[in-house]
Amino acid sequence: MTKYNCVVVGAGPGGSAFSKIAVENGLKVLMLERARNPGEKNTSGSTIWGNIARKIHPDFPADAPIERRVDGGRLYFVPEGKDWEKGGYSLVGFSHPSKEISDPFNVYRNVFDKWWAEQSVAAGAELKTSTLVTGVVRDANGKIIGVIDEKGEKYEADIVIGADGVLSIIGRMAGLRPMWGSHENCLCCKIDWELDEKLIDERFGSSIEHDDGDIGVLLEIYFAQPMAGNAGYFWIFPDRGSLALGLGIIMNDLIRLEHNIWWYMWNSINHPIVKPKLKGGKPRSYIAHSIPLTNPVGPNGTLFKSYADNIMLIGDAAGFVCPIDGAGWCGAVSAGKIAAEIATKALEKGDTSAEFFQRYQRKWIESDVGKNLKMGKEMADWLTHESGGINVLADQFTRGLASLMEHGTSHEEVGSSSINRTIKYAQEWMALSKPMRMLLGPYLQLFTSLMR
Ligand SMILES: Cc1cc2nc3c(=O)[nH]c(=O)nc-3n(C[C@H](O)[C@H](O)[C@H](O)COP(=O)(O)OP(=O)(O)OC[C@H]3O[C@@H](n4cnc5c(N)ncnc54)[C@H](O)[C@@H]3O)c2cc1C
Repeated sequence: MTKYNCVVVGAGPGGSAFSKIAVENGLKVLMLERARNPGEKNTSGSTIWGNIARKIHPDFPADAPIERRVDGGRLYFVPEGKDWEKGGYSLVGFSHPSKEISDPFNVYRNVFDKWWAEQSVAAGAELKTSTLVTGVVRDANGKIIGVIDEKGEKYEADIVIGADGVLSIIGRMAGLRPMWGSHENCLCCKIDWELDEKLIDERFGSSIEHDDGDIGVLLEIYFAQPMAGNAGYFWIFPDRGSLALGLGIIMNDLIRLEHNIWWYMWNSINHPIVKPKLKGGKPRSYIAHSIPLTNPVGPNGTLFKSYADNIMLIGDAAGFVCPIDGAGWCGAVSAGKIAAEIATKALEKGDTSAEFFQRYQRKWIESDVGKNLKMGKEMADWLTHESGGINVLADQFTRGLASLMEHGTSHEEVGSSSINRTIKYAQEWMALSKPMRMLLGPYLQLFTSLMR
């Protein structure tokens, strides 16, 4: 049996990011993936960030399979019980501050994850696909020294990386975490909506032409009415010949709610503001998958260790998804890089103990991964409890904007002459709440650029 420095379970965004940096640092790495190709089993929105990707691939996007560049987006606050046709909703635009801070792209994850993993293989990692890991291998003292697949084949390593997503068999077998509870697990569903590229450009184009001649797109996010007033949001993320339509609802809420998750999807698709934008298209595929929406650094989240003797967990396996927007790609990739650097140091020192790996947890908590989790959880708690809920918030926001603008809050009105007053109002409104200020502040200060 070949012994590896690191066996990585899962060739998703986190596992491949770890492997690329680890092999560049001289480690012998094997990635085990249950799918026939990395990405085949992934479901995602699918916005990813170039500034984070460049931590792993400095020349990104170079030859990466990108669908669209994202120049910004529109947030629709549509309160329940209001007549949206009479201006009973508000629309806020946002753009991205700079490529260093936020450089989003839309991708097809089943194509993109394959490419992402291939880069790690090109750098020297081994990849074994169609391999479902079913357990861990322990030494006489009970320490984990490898993993075993469904055919009984064993893979030994100094370090095992659990990059195996939300259900993480590695995390659970190592005793590091339970299954996430229904209050910290979000069910997401997605429809790939086929639509002519020209129509996509007309309806979602940013009109910004990039260096390669490509026109960027705007994301759309809808709160309240399309979701029947429930927490969460409905999104439209444009690709080249299709739109990713999606939404997520916390499992606890789904248990309590009258309808199943697809009802909310069709309620959103048929909403009068959304429907015309989808006209001429049709569904191509349906998928659903859950994401952890917890805060592994507590309080109120499932407090756990992301490491043990010879083990580190990264990405969804460790719960690194921002609880306010459900984005987990950045957390998986950034944590993959941090873990690869710690693994390299551990092997240099010949110490892969839990004590040594404490520094992994310290590092990710101090990094953007930990900051996002903490801030996201704070904002999500505020939104679902203290604010009175998303519907109340959408209503307050819309009424506030309407009174400032004297005659309604249509896209054009918000975007043109009243823009400075809108920003002033939004800033005053956000001053009421620290979490909300942190969420929207940087965007609102910049939304003039797209709406003028
Ligand atoms: C509908 C939806 C939309 C989303 N949209 C976005 C978005 O737009 N932007 C964003 O940032 N995030 C989004 N997310 C979240 C994002 O997809 C995840 O946070 C991200 O993929 C986590 O990466 P990961 O590498 O940790 O895990 P994963 O992407 O889940 O990868 C885990 C890999 O491990 C493999 N695996 C699992 N178990 C085993 C096993 N036992 N043996 C071998 N292999 C195994 C899987 O096949 C998979 O390839 C979305 C999620 C959903 C469900």
